[in-house]
Amino acid sequence: VSKFEGVTMAPPDPILGVSEAFKASTNQSKLNLGVGAYRTEELQPYVLDVVKKAENLMIERGENKEYLPIEGLAAFNKVTAELLFGADNPVIKQQKVATVQGLSGTGSLRLAAALIERYFPGAKVLISSPTWGNHKNIFNDSRVPWSEYRYYDPKTVGLDFEGMISDIKAAPEGSFVLLHGCAHNPTGIDPTPDQWEKIADVIQEKNHIPFFDVAYQGFASGSLDTDAASVRLFAARGLELLVAQSYSKNLGLYAERIGAINVVCTSSDTAARVKSQLKRIARPMYSNPPVHGARIVANVVGDPTLFGEWKAEMEMMAGRIKNVRQKLYDNLTAKDKSGKDWSFVLKQIGMFSFTGLNKAQTENMTNKWHVYMTKDGRISLAGLSLAKCEYLSDAIIDSYH
Ligand code: PMP
Repeated sequence: VSKFEGVTMAPPDPILGVSEAFKASTNQSKLNLGVGAYRTEELQPYVLDVVKKAENLMIERGENKEYLPIEGLAAFNKVTAELLFGADNPVIKQQKVATVQGLSGTGSLRLAAALIERYFPGAKVLISSPTWGNHKNIFNDSRVPWSEYRYYDPKTVGLDFEGMISDIKAAPEGSFVLLHGCAHNPTGIDPTPDQWEKIADVIQEKNHIPFFDVAYQGFASGSLDTDAASVRLFAARGLELLVAQSYSKNLGLYAERIGAINVVCTSSDTAARVKSQLKRIARPMYSNPPVHGARIVANVVGDPTLFGEWKAEMEMMAGRIKNVRQKLYDNLTAKDKSGKDWSFVLKQIGMFSFTGLNKAQTENMTNKWHVYMTKDGRISLAGLSLAKCEYLSDAIIDSYH
């Protein structure tokens, strides 16, 4: 009898499990709208031209494979913080940001969670309802208590702003408030600039600590600066804050696991101490981060020509998603005879559309139509082509009614 007899079978991951089920299907019409990964109009994975150019440069230079320092590649840490806050931001100029390279967005969130667990015992993290499913896992495994604030209003398929504000107000002073910097996952609904100001007011009033998750910078609007506006607004108020970054989507570096955790402090001295503790957390966890993706980012963001080309490619990707969003809306509106208002599809931004389909309806989408998606009703428009919009709208209309 096995020593591991007591180990039970874990359920499949609600997001990555969808890709596994998709692979196993032999149906010709199948569509994978589960994971948020950009595909071409031919529904093939896409490696950005600037990434290939950066990789060629790296080969020409004959870079070695020595260990990175615990905090990661210095050139990467510099450009990643500048990309987020803007190179001229006082928090950068005054060296108030502790930046540590992380294992993409997930690993960076995990480092922050460990820091919270260690230095803010008992403090709660407030997360939006709903949110990206892995947030709860990250805080659970890090033993950080969390609770939810209202965010999505099913009646309007929009933001429950009043609910959000009152829940943030009601939380114990000094809580961490997890905010999606842009392109909220899974709803695709972001606060307006005015609403961001009011959110900042309440957070400041309550002495909370804003904690941004920025996984889609550039992917929401097509502009890196516009998508960082929420984070910069909080930084401009002189608040201390945390920001986890990911290059999975905007540079298509999913498997390279490249991102960072940034902690903005009130002084360079505090930032240095925070950074030293983040390194101490990383050392026994994975020792030091991988170099390949860090070098790609440093080369692309640090080089004016490649940076310009990246922005153009990002606009192209964001543009393709906007086009399928429009075509899906057109098809839904033209084909659905029930009079349902589908305009929410156009209002949502980023990679996803939150369809409002319930669990049973999403099961119909998968079982009858071979459309693979998460059970919360989210679909990744990055995995949809113009050619498949009509098929998808037929599936959605059939599943709704
Ligand atoms: N946060 C959010 C909200 C996300 O959607 C994602 C990617 N799905 C991540 C973080 C992190 O992804 P990764 O670890 O691949 O950077």
